[in-house]
Amino acid sequence: MYSRVVGYLRPVKTVEHGKTGRIQDAEGVPVLIPMKIAGIQRVSLIDYPGRIGATIFTQGCNFRCGYCHNAELVSPDQYGPLIEEDDIFAFLRKRAGKLEAVTVTGGEPTIQDDLAGFSAL
Ligand code: SF4
Repeated sequence: MYSRVVGYLRPVKTVEHGKTGRIQDAEGVPVLIPMKIAGIQRVSLIDYPGRIGATIFTQGCNFRCGYCHNAELVSPDQYGPLIEEDDIFAFLRKRAGKLEAVTVTGGEPTIQDDLAGFSAL
């Protein structure tokens, strides 16, 4: 399985490499900040060139482009319910051997605290 992150290079806040985020529980233990996943395209033939893939859409964007057509991923007042990471991984496990790639896009995936950890799994 291959994966890539689709996005433009731009300054973003520090991303912790690995599976811990920057918040802590009451005992000071780092707590994982899960990815905010707002949608998934279960099959895509265009998002990862030359491969059959799934596309994951993250919620949130630090830009406000005038031509944006993803208001439900960009404007908090239009946010819908999130999808649990476990549900995403369960889906990907079921499609193992059929899907060849996973594309993570948004919104803006690079503002997700656990993008590196999520992409490594
Ligand atoms: S999701 Fe919309 S606002 Fe954010 S970078 Fe893409 S086009 Fe611009």
